[in-house]
Amino acid sequence: MPAPVRKTPANPAERENTVDEIYERVYVAILEHRLQPGTKLGEERMADIFGVSRARIREVLARLAHEQIVELFPQRGAYVAKPSTEQARDVFEARRLIEPAVVRRLVDTHTPEKIQRLRQHVELEADARRRGDKRAVIRLSGEFHTLLAELAGNSALARSMRELCMLTCLTILLYDAPTAQSCRDDEHQMIIDAVARRDRARAEEIMLDHLDHIEGSLQLDQGNGEADLEAIFRG
Ligand SMILES: [Zn+2]
Repeated sequence: MPAPVRKTPANPAERENTVDEIYERVYVAILEHRLQPGTKLGEERMADIFGVSRARIREVLARLAHEQIVELFPQRGAYVAKPSTEQARDVFEARRLIEPAVVRRLVDTHTPEKIQRLRQHVELEADARRRGDKRAVIRLSGEFHTLLAELAGNSALARSMRELCMLTCLTILLYDAPTAQSCRDDEHQMIIDAVARRDRARAEEIMLDHLDHIEGSLQLDQGNGEADLEAIFRG
């Protein structure tokens, strides 16, 4: 996600890079399952580890909190977000209602250009898998679903999907088994093929199976909140 633009830092490039860099380190540590849900991110320890002021750490934590990756509690500090299993189920229930409608609409409205666009996206996903770039795989997998909704041509559906995909992405970051895939690699291709054949029933069926597979792969046991931050970031 791009950094928000700020208007008046004394030295924009240096300041942004430093905050960006710390943000990136924390984000990747969560993605790579080195930081578990519920882990406390102490301001003072983080400031010491990264050799920056607590104010700068607060800025990083505020950005992560804005993206719902980190939760901030008064008096207690910042913790890696820990969405409940209920919240995760709610997201999938909503997706099971919306996404069959998305593919139905796409079957009715698709053009060779739209199919081409979807196939190009799947090629980007395949490339990220070949490179073993799990972060890119998770991001691109979510974006495939947002792209389906955008190409289906209903702006309200597309907006809902963007939000639901972001929440799914966060849940996968936090609960996915380290070796699991966020979206099975062949199923996006199968959805496109069914849409291209104008096979509504099959497109809907594959989409629902696909959502079941994602939800089924989530690993809902959690860490105990204790972590050796020095080892994670200095190792
Ligand atoms: Zn998918």
